[in-house]
Amino acid sequence: MDFTKYIRDVEDFPQKGILFKDITPLLQNPEAMKSAMNGLLKMVEHQKIDKVVGMESRGFFFAPILAMRLNAGFVPVRKSGKLPADKISHTYVLEYGTDTLEMHSDSIQKGDKVLVHDDVLATGGTASATCELIENLGGIVVQCNFLIELDFLKGRNRLRPYKIASLLHY
Ligand code: IMP
Repeated sequence: MDFTKYIRDVEDFPQKGILFKDITPLLQNPEAMKSAMNGLLKMVEHQKIDKVVGMESRGFFFAPILAMRLNAGFVPVRKSGKLPADKISHTYVLEYGTDTLEMHSDSIQKGDKVLVHDDVLATGGTASATCELIENLGGIVVQCNFLIELDFLKGRNRLRPYKIASLLHY
């Protein structure tokens, strides 16, 4: 099933000049969802995964389902100030300013094999900050897995030490 037709381009969102890949039409179609999920699972086949880490907020669409299918736990990475319990933070640089991501301190155990999932890999800032958090807790990043990779933004370079797998490239 070709689910790519359910990914919509939205011009000038969230800012002028940006062509936003909107996956909400895909989420509305169960066959497209199943097909995308099977593709994401195939990329991580035969690897033991203890935790799947998904990033706020669009990483939350697929990461918990991936975790269930891999018999792993799901761990949310959230923007600053959203997680209630003891947590660790990592601040990273954006084109204009900085952003902070957080993770609960007890969410990864030392030696846990971790799959990182987000919907889109753009500049790689979000994913590399997430990998820092995981490693700070003693986890091992097995793969960074994306539905869509925006090749022209070269996020892959920022994630050089890690294994990267993307289902679709634009
Ligand atoms: P990065 O940190 O620049 O790699 O941006 C990745 C983050 O921004 C991810 O959490 C994505 O959900 C979001 N993002 C960037 N571009 C798009 C897009 O075109 N569609 C949907 N999300 C995007």
